[in-house]
Order: sequence, then structure tokens, then C-alpha cells
Amino acid sequence: MAEEYKALIGGEWVGSTTGETMDVVNPATGDVVAKVAKCGTAEVDRAVQAARKAGPGWASKTVAERSKVLLNLSRIIMEHHEELAKLETLEHGSPIRKTMNFDVPLCAEQFEYFAGIARAMTGETLPVGPWCTSMTVREPLGVVALITPWNFPALMVVWKLGAALVTGNTCVVKPPSIAPLTTLKLVELAMEAGVPAGVVNVVTGPGETVGEALVSHPDVAKVGFTGDTATGKRIMSIASANVKQVGLELGGKNAFVVLPDADVDSAAEGAVWAAFFNSGQVCAAASRFYIHESIYDEFAEKMVALAVTLRVGDPRKMETVIGPLAYKEHRDKVEWYIESGRKSGAKLLLGGQRPDTDETRKGFFVAPTIFGDCRNDMEVMREEIFGPVAGLARFKTEEEAIGLVNDTPYGLSASLWTKDVRKGLALAGRINAGTVWINEHLIIFCDTPWGGCKQSGWGKDLSKMVLDEYTMTKHIYIDLTGERVKPWYGLLK
Ligand code: NAD
Repeated sequence: MAEEYKALIGGEWVGSTTGETMDVVNPATGDVVAKVAKCGTAEVDRAVQAARKAGPGWASKTVAERSKVLLNLSRIIMEHHEELAKLETLEHGSPIRKTMNFDVPLCAEQFEYFAGIARAMTGETLPVGPWCTSMTVREPLGVVALITPWNFPALMVVWKLGAALVTGNTCVVKPPSIAPLTTLKLVELAMEAGVPAGVVNVVTGPGETVGEALVSHPDVAKVGFTGDTATGKRIMSIASANVKQVGLELGGKNAFVVLPDADVDSAAEGAVWAAFFNSGQVCAAASRFYIHESIYDEFAEKMVALAVTLRVGDPRKMETVIGPLAYKEHRDKVEWYIESGRKSGAKLLLGGQRPDTDETRKGFFVAPTIFGDCRNDMEVMREEIFGPVAGLARFKTEEEAIGLVNDTPYGLSASLWTKDVRKGLALAGRINAGTVWINEHLIIFCDTPWGGCKQSGWGKDLSKMVLDEYTMTKHIYIDLTGERVKPWYGLLK
């Protein structure tokens, strides 16, 4: 029997008023492993009211008090390290070596980071004139809605929750419909760590109902969203009705450029990491590879030779590197793109099919796939596939490479591989993206800002910049003269 999970509203675990549930499916086997409350607009409203009610109490705590709660949470997460890792592997299919060594420790580290940076948050005094004091203070926004995607179910909510909580906001989280279990476990641990009832609420349910009800709710001050660009556009349009703030971390079509002087072995290794980590279900995954024609064949051969060694299989096994895609319809979509690549004349260098082993037959697996001889007008080079599919193309000049990199509606990230770091820096300045790595790809720290430009969204997660995302800067002016004659007097009389 699949275990039942409920939503969290005002510190209570509650089912939906209609009694409906949604299935959570293990993508490695296709089995239903849990049932989760399918909430609707009534639960959204109750959760927002619970968050509103909890707001003044949480906002009036000192930053030090809130930071201590996050530090507790960080410790408690590591006490539940294995349990959380197994849960994420179960609902998402991420290999256990990743969830154990990457996702869960990073969640703990990020709460620590947010606990630390908030202590350094300041306002300013502004030297307007000797007759006044003019200062800025930071205030919480109020109730914030955090809507998160399935590709890193735990990490994506932690990025937003840590920043929103430490700055004194109360939250209603809408986790991904297909993978809500780690979020529910994390908020249970948050209450154990000392987050008061109502400060964090979780409403499980479909994006079109629960998500949209949150975005349009008049008492929600901000929506922190990570997800697809099309959903981001919809959220922006709904939020415009009451001029709600939105933070949008959206899709990408990230380029990986190998210049003729690059260390080809290192670049090929980096390419395999960048394309296939988390089965390519990463917003910043490299999926367009532009290789200088002088080293194209050598690079392609080395990348294929490395990719073929990646173990695809049961994500519960420590030796597995590539797990399944997160759900069936997504696997179908990735396969559609592979077919599109074939039809458009790209040369299949590796993969292109479902792996056929006892470990993979029932799940939603796709083998690491590499296409060569790609052109920028092909769908595989233009659209976000979000799967283990890499497209390789040749370029002749740096000018051409930069043109190809920027020829996309997205602007999330890109990487340049060269031994000439000075050249790399100059070219990085010409790439339209929120992050450009030189001789690296897909490395993200708490300390560094994360967020794109163009249709990859706006706003930043992580780094101290995130404090601005979850606070309002208020200006307070105090007249110090005590006199009736003000600076504007001459304009009045
Ligand atoms: P998605 O947009 O389908 O869903 C994201 C969340 O929004 C889910 O919780 C979903 O239920 C909810 N949602 C769906 N429709 C909604 C609506 N109309 N109103 C409100 N909420 C709604 O995205 P996904 O498939 O879960 O995630 C994959 C996408 O996320 C990819 O495009 C990926 O690039 C992007 N992503 C971006 C970043 C980043 O930092 N830029 C990080 C991770 C993932």
C-alpha cells in the first residue's frame, strides 16, 4: 500500500477538502509509491491566512533568533541524511550517490549559509544634509509563495526557503506535483528545528490550480518561482493583476564552447559532466556544444568514449551514475527531441535509445545521447530538452562562436574552455548569460549569485544578493531641525 502524505497548514497535517489525492510514481520502476493530498483553492486560502497570522511573530524575532533556527535545521537535516537521500531517489530517480553526496549535504550547507549572511544584513544612513537623518531599513515582504520544480526537489525549495525565512517572511510552498515528498519531509524537520506553526505551510496539488491560486492571491506579497519559461510567463501575467513581485528562475539552453587552445581531455570530461549530470535535467546543463573545427573530431571521440562508460541503471545502487528521467511524459518528450535530431540530419554518435537491461526495462530511462554535425537551426540546438542529449557543432572563428552562443532566447549560463584565461574573460563579457564559467561548467556555490537574463528569467537565488529578493527597502527620513521652515518653503510661499 502506498503511504499517504498530507499538506501542512498552520502547523497541522491536513488532507484536501475533497479527499482527492495524487500519485507519486517511482520513475525507476513505474510503481506508485505514495499518495499526496490534491489540494485546491480552499487550502491555498487557508495556508495564506495561516502564514499571515504567523507573520508578525516571526518578523519580530531578531535575525539572530531566526538564524539559530536555520542552523538547527541544518544539523537536523544531516541527522536525517540517508532518509532524505533515499526519499529523493525514490520520488525523482536521482542516483543515491548523488542524493547522498550532493543534494542532502548541500541543503544543510545552504541553510547554514543563509543563517550566516542574514547576520550581516544592514541598512544605510544617507548624507542628505545636516538638517535630517535619512536611512534605509530592510523589512520582510510578508507572505511569500515559493513554487518549485521537480528537477532538484529538495535543493530548489531550500534555496528559496532559507532566504525567505531568515529575512522574516512567512511562506506557502507549492512543491512539484510529481515529487513533493522531500519538501514535506524538510518542513517536518523545519518544525522540529523551531520554525513556529504557520511560518511555513505546504500546499500540494497541481500547478494550474494550487499554483495559480497562490499567484493571484491578494495576500501573497511575492512569488519566488523556479520552473519552465512558459509557466514563468503565465505567472508574470497573473501576478500583474495586483502588481505582485515575482522572482523567475526559468529554463536555459546552455552553450559549451571549446576554443582551439583548450585542454581537450579536460573539456571532454567537463562536457560529459555538464550534459549528463542528473540525466541532463538541470537548468544549466550544457546541451549545445560549439567546438573549434581544428579539435572537433578529437573532442567528439573523447566525449563519446567517456559517456559510454557512465553506468545507467537502478538509482538505489551506489555505482549508478545515470538514473531514469523523472516521469513518463518527460521521457516521451526527450525521445521526441531525439527523433527530431535524427530527422533534421544530425549524426547520432551515441545512444538515442532506451537502455534495455533488467534494471531499466520498467522505468523511464534514456541512454546518454550525443549528436554530431548539428546546426543552430535544429530543434535539438534551440529548445530546452532537459534530458541526457548533447548536440555538437563546429565553428571556425571566435566571432562565429559568440554569435552562435547568443543566438537563443535564453540567457542562463554558458562555459568557455581555453588555456588563455585573459581571452576567456574578454569573451565572457560578450556572452548574454547570468553565469559564464571558464574551464568549468555546472558548478554553483551558495556564495555566488544564480539567475539568468532574457527568457531565463530575472532575480537572483543564492549569494548575499538574495537578501534583496526577500526584503523591501524602506526609506525613513527624520527632520532634525525642529523648525517650521522646511527646504521646500520657498516653493510654497
Ligand atoms: P514547471 O514550470 O512545469 O513547474 C514548476 C512548478 O510550477 C511546479 O511546482 C508546478 O506544479 C508549478 N506550476 C505549473 N503550472 C503552473 C501555473 N500555471 N501557475 C503556477 N504554478 C504552476 O517546471 P518543471 O517542469 O517542474 O521544471 C523544469 C523547468 O525548471 C525547466 O525549464 C528548468 O530549466 C527550470 N529550472 C530552472 C532553474 C533555474 O535556476 N533557472 C532551476 C531548476 C529548474
